[in-house]
Order: sequence, then C-alpha cells, then structure tokens
Amino acid sequence: MIGMVLRDMIKNKQAIQGLRSEKLRKIRYELRTLLRLEYDSRIERVNQKWRMINENTEFTPCQRMELREPLVREEERLTETRHKYPINCIVCGDRMHDLFYYPQYGWICSLCKVDYEGSSS
Ligand SMILES: [Zn+2]
Repeated sequence: MIGMVLRDMIKNKQAIQGLRSEKLRKIRYELRTLLRLEYDSRIERVNQKWRMINENTEFTPCQRMELREPLVREEERLTETRHKYPINCIVCGDRMHDLFYYPQYGWICSLCKVDYEGSSS
C-alpha cells in the first residue's frame, strides 16, 4: 500500500498537491516524514564513513581518494533525490502543506511560495 502511494507521489507530482481531506494530508505528512527520516539516516551513514576515512591515519592519500569517491557519488545521488522528490519544503522544512516544484531550487511549501513569489517580482 505505502509502495503504491509512494510510486504515485513520485510519478505524478500533481497528485500530492491540493489535498483537501485532512485524513489524506495526515497520511501525506507521515509518508514525507518517513522519507525524511530515511534521507537523514543515509546522509548520516555517509558522514560516518567520511569521518572514519578522515580520522584513520593509516590510509595513504591515494587510498583516501579511492575511499572518498563512492561517498561523493552517494552524496550527489542523495542530494539529487532530495531535490527531485517532495520530501519537505527546502526553505522551512515543512511537510504538512502542499509543495510546489521550482526546478532551480526544489520543493517549496505553499506558505514559503508566497514569500518566494513576492520577493521575485
Ligand atoms: Zn516552507
């Protein structure tokens, strides 16, 4: 069930906007919270690996480079995923309100959208 909802959320960005039902908003909030927790957990694992590489004095510079390479790719992949999918507002972190996609920035909630559009005009 959650997998189907997530696939729909990802496939059809419009489907997750403009929810009027309080119950559906709550479900969307919970799903976004799960995605956010998963994102944070993966970022933390990457950071732990960075620290391990940086703190281990036995690695040669060449070994460090080799070990860092997949971490850089993983960080890029996570950043790209965060940018692409509506996990939360990139300005205030909100997960409850409708999110709107701005290709150059990412997802912005309906509250910050007003500020963003107001300041850009
Ligand atoms: Zn916001």
